[in-house]
Amino acid sequence: MIEATDIDTSYGGIQVLWDLSFSVSEEEGVVAIVGPNGAGKSTLLRVLSGIQPIDDGELTLWGEDIESLQPSDVVDMGFVHVSEERNLFNEMTVEENLEMGAYKRRENMESNMQEVYDLFPILDERSSQTAGSLSGGEQQMLAIGRGLMAEPKILALDEPSEGLAPQITDRMFEKIEAISEDVTILLIEQHVNKALSLAETAYLLENGEFVAQDTGQGLLESQHIEDAYL
Ligand code: ATP
Repeated sequence: MIEATDIDTSYGGIQVLWDLSFSVSEEEGVVAIVGPNGAGKSTLLRVLSGIQPIDDGELTLWGEDIESLQPSDVVDMGFVHVSEERNLFNEMTVEENLEMGAYKRRENMESNMQEVYDLFPILDERSSQTAGSLSGGEQQMLAIGRGLMAEPKILALDEPSEGLAPQITDRMFEKIEAISEDVTILLIEQHVNKALSLAETAYLLENGEFVAQDTGQGLLESQHIEDAYL
């Protein structure tokens, strides 16, 4: 479980997140964070991953203070972040990339890999191809698959539909919904309608502050979303 109270963070003295308070538990399905470009969504995920330090406030992951954790501890505890950049090992095969995700979970590696292949059969077909030779959609599937290999309790996805064709985006959302039956998804998305339709809980982030929180459907129908996006 992630619990944040009044967290602030900044880059080189310029504050980008202001007094954010929220919680995400592994009982939830999809929690969405939406907001305009530059609002601070990716920064928030970097804070939760222990990559970006907080200046003020309190942040605990499963009861442990983030300041006492290394980014690798955060992964071990169950928070896995699939970043916008995807960060695949392009020269390595699909299978080797999946193995890299399982570096601390060797005992279940074979069965976890089978689950990833069941979820994304195209990765099974391409298992001995290099990651760099995959299409954008396949690379995104591989990045998510590699995240799942670490057995997350909460999986954060930063714009998983970025750069994907509309049809592939729809399929990606179906996969996200399927994954959320087993793993809590913290979802950052530019496809606001799709993200909010899936989310049980949703936050609107603007200029580094949460300006609304509701059920996904509630936020979708709210004036806040109309004001932010229309
Ligand atoms: P986008 O959807 O465009 O990625 P975002 O909501 O994820 O936007 P962030 O990428 O978190 O927003 O950026 C929040 C603010 O912090 C922006 O003003 C951005 O320019 C700034 N910022 C992000 N990364 C850095 C960095 N490494 N150094 C300095 N400023 C940064």
